[in-house]
Amino acid sequence: MQQEHIVILGGGYGGLRAVEHLVGDPRFRITLVDRHPYHYLQTEAYGYIAGRFDIHDITIDLANWCRGFGSRVRFVQAEITGIDPEARTVLLEEERLGYDSLIIATGARTNFFAFIKGLRENSYGVKNLQRAFAFRQTFEQLVYTKVEEPRDPAPGELHIAIGGAGLSGVEIAAEMADVIEKHHKTLGTNAKKIRITLIDAAPSILPGMSDYIVRSTTMRLESLGIRILTNAFIDRVEDGIIHLKDETRLPYCFMIFTGGIIANTPASEPARETNRLGQILPDAYLRLAPHMNVYAVGDCVELRDTAGNLLPPTAQTAEKSAEYVADAIKKRLEGRPVAPFHAKVDGVFVALGGRYAVGELFGVIRVKGYTAYLLKKLITKGYYLGLKLRINTGFKKRSAVHEIN
Ligand SMILES: Cc1cc2nc3c(=O)[nH]c(=O)nc-3n(C[C@H](O)[C@H](O)[C@H](O)COP(=O)(O)OP(=O)(O)OC[C@H]3O[C@@H](n4cnc5c(N)ncnc54)[C@H](O)[C@@H]3O)c2cc1C
Repeated sequence: MQQEHIVILGGGYGGLRAVEHLVGDPRFRITLVDRHPYHYLQTEAYGYIAGRFDIHDITIDLANWCRGFGSRVRFVQAEITGIDPEARTVLLEEERLGYDSLIIATGARTNFFAFIKGLRENSYGVKNLQRAFAFRQTFEQLVYTKVEEPRDPAPGELHIAIGGAGLSGVEIAAEMADVIEKHHKTLGTNAKKIRITLIDAAPSILPGMSDYIVRSTTMRLESLGIRILTNAFIDRVEDGIIHLKDETRLPYCFMIFTGGIIANTPASEPARETNRLGQILPDAYLRLAPHMNVYAVGDCVELRDTAGNLLPPTAQTAEKSAEYVADAIKKRLEGRPVAPFHAKVDGVFVALGGRYAVGELFGVIRVKGYTAYLLKKLITKGYYLGLKLRINTGFKKRSAVHEIN
């Protein structure tokens, strides 16, 4: 049987979901490409940074995972340098990869806004593992310093600033504050001198989320001793001092920035039209017209719900768009009609330190505290265990090949 070659660019939430939804169909041969050898579970970064999870909880080896599906899925670790849709080819550093259909799922990176002077030089993002790793080390160092050091800290010496009070900023702040709160008895009360401030230009935290989520989250953050500054515009960042537009000066020892994203989109000729986040603007079927065999899913593309409202760039949306595209590719091959993309947000869960979360499902079910934590855990554990099972299969296959050789 002549197989269709599907190339998927990006081994994130969208890319992996596309593989899972296409692989059951023997008409396809799949190649997954990523610059890293691992899938990074960004949604768990907050726990990794605060020392609750370890590196093996937030990474999945892509080669072993792909091997778990058998010979029809191949993993290529390479930097994607561009695509040539006319020639139906992806350009990698050292090879060119032909395709029948292409799914772009290259996600997004932190946008260190160029108009905020010094932001890029003085702050960290968490959308890649190396940065999260550096942040974790710094957090540990801070706690250690406080345990060791009997003298009173200078202003800002123990101050962590988080620019951006969206989902990731809020979750990271809460987890760190909870670690400090929980362990200050063993670490020494000095550890409590570590201060965390969340800064956002919007009038409230978690812009775009429901009143219930915003209110419940604010109460929890305040109970953890986190300072929240809203309507606060960062003007410039110097080494050790954040300057706000209203002339407030915030001394800090470590700053992370989660206030914006910019899409990763492979270069292509002619250049494609994008929105202000650099996201690709697709047609109603998530294709990159006029190339009807090139699709985009996840954070790298502008996605809207049925009413035309923008969907937030989340793992949930990335997965839904990937499922849609996988289904559309199958239908087109069979000559069946394909409906335009439509999706809505089923719910949101915000992890707020330790065994506490706030959540909302289908706009009507509202939970907070331990129950919400358990529900969130169920979702994330389910995702992780699914990947882990596949890895185990892949690993066994690899070992069997090694034994024969
Ligand atoms: C701290 C944090 C907490 C979050 N919490 C939640 C949450 O609770 N719920 C939720 O739904 N979402 C959450 N998100 C958002 C979620 O992680 C993203 O929306 C999701 O990762 C998007 O998936 P994606 O597949 O589009 O891109 P990604 O997961 O970012 O994957 C893109 C992949 O493409 C690869 N890539 C990019 N460019 C290239 C290139 N040129 N060459 C080779 N490879 C390339 C990257 O290495 C990466 O593996 C959170 C994000 C963060 C940072």
